[in-house]
Amino acid sequence: MTRTIHTQVAIIGAGPAGLLLSHLLHFRGIESIVLEVRSRAAVESTVRAGVLEQATVDLLTICGVGERLLREGHVHHGINLRFAGQTHRIDFERLTNGRAITIYAQHEVLRDLIQAANHAGREIIFEAHDVQVHDIDTSQPRVTFTQDGQPTEVHCDFVAGCDGFHGVCRPSIPAGAIDCHQCQLQIGWLGMLVEAAPSSKELIYARHERGFALVSTRTPHIQRLYLQCEPHDDVAAWTDERIWSELRIRLETREDWQLIQGRIFQKCIVTMRSFVADPMQYGRLYLAGDAAHIVPPTGAKGLNLALADVSVLAPALAEFFETGRSDSLEHYSETCLPRVWRAQRFSAWMTTALHRLPGMEDYKSRLQIAELEYVVHSQAASASLAENYVGFPLPAVAQASLAAGRSKTHVCGTGSTCT
Ligand SMILES: Cc1cc2nc3c(=O)[nH]c(=O)nc-3n(C[C@H](O)[C@H](O)[C@H](O)COP(=O)(O)OP(=O)(O)OC[C@H]3O[C@@H](n4cnc5c(N)ncnc54)[C@H](O)[C@@H]3O)c2cc1C
Repeated sequence: MTRTIHTQVAIIGAGPAGLLLSHLLHFRGIESIVLEVRSRAAVESTVRAGVLEQATVDLLTICGVGERLLREGHVHHGINLRFAGQTHRIDFERLTNGRAITIYAQHEVLRDLIQAANHAGREIIFEAHDVQVHDIDTSQPRVTFTQDGQPTEVHCDFVAGCDGFHGVCRPSIPAGAIDCHQCQLQIGWLGMLVEAAPSSKELIYARHERGFALVSTRTPHIQRLYLQCEPHDDVAAWTDERIWSELRIRLETREDWQLIQGRIFQKCIVTMRSFVADPMQYGRLYLAGDAAHIVPPTGAKGLNLALADVSVLAPALAEFFETGRSDSLEHYSETCLPRVWRAQRFSAWMTTALHRLPGMEDYKSRLQIAELEYVVHSQAASASLAENYVGFPLPAVAQASLAAGRSKTHVCGTGSTCT
């Protein structure tokens, strides 16, 4: 027999977008249910993003899930660009009036959000299979799924498609109802997690004739390293020896610097694409995060954009439930898309400025060096990089909602401060 659940907002996907949306709705008194195909353990352990913009840190802190982030995250006031054997620091503090980024792993953000949901008694259904959305062009959409073989139907007012790039929500929109702008890049990243001390206090983005390399970090004991590779490379072909040798070559510098090696305990290959759905909505289905748009990870924007989307969607849904007005919902796409396109532009620029691109001959390679020389020697160009990297303030509607919430601050069950 089919089980029936009633809720106001059915959220598909327990990634950053879905979990923060549920959290923000809860503090506006709106019920939601989150459906996630993977297990809680898988969600809490998948390693992805790590760079949080200033506005993201502020958002998570104001809405009460920033306590551990503030305690354990690492604030970075700059990044390094390395090319032609030299390192050039981009000083965020000086160039952006004191703004910074914080290194805090995406799965730690998810753990914090899941813990807040548990404390508040909000339901997240993990291992929800065969999720399908129905009747999204009516005022009574439904979502069906099975859990432990039990068919279940969710009756709701809205569906939030927060199920990532490969989810089911966007494909359930009729063909022609949204425009899809996209570009597939013939670039892959081999990502490694390494047990070692940090090789650098701040991230190193390295451009080399053999391809891009990135020295990032997670904790004082775990480092995140990346190498540009072919998108369809086999991870098995990348032995530890080959990885260290390639990293040493691509990160070579005339300065006194050493790559600290350690045990590589995870390797994976990610492919890159750029994609934007416009509008980010159809009927009562609203897309947020990677379900609506995706960027190459070079600019570290995907997670930040996902959270910015739901900081707009949550007050728009609240306005509808509180007043019956749908103005903000109607403007959801046009509020989010300028930020999305700005991130697309920046991510594409970082990617082309730093990677070895297919068919790149000597002339283009020299242009790339000239571009980077300009960036590091021009105050205006460095400031442009810094401003985009630390990110822009959230849209006004999200800021207004957070400011209103802040004035009603109280302490929630987790012991952290909630609005
Ligand atoms: C190597 C790498 C490095 C990155 N670094 C950064 C960075 O430093 N900074 C940054 O901002 N971004 C970064 N990103 C991007 C960032 O990780 C993503 O943009 C972010 O995860 C998007 O969040 P989301 O909630 O939209 O989607 P997701 O995180 O993809 O979450 C979607 C969830 O939906 C679930 N789901 C999918 N299909 C279904 C279904 N049918 N039914 C139910 N559930 C479903 C999935 O299991 C998943 O849990 C990086 C990405 C990669 C790959």
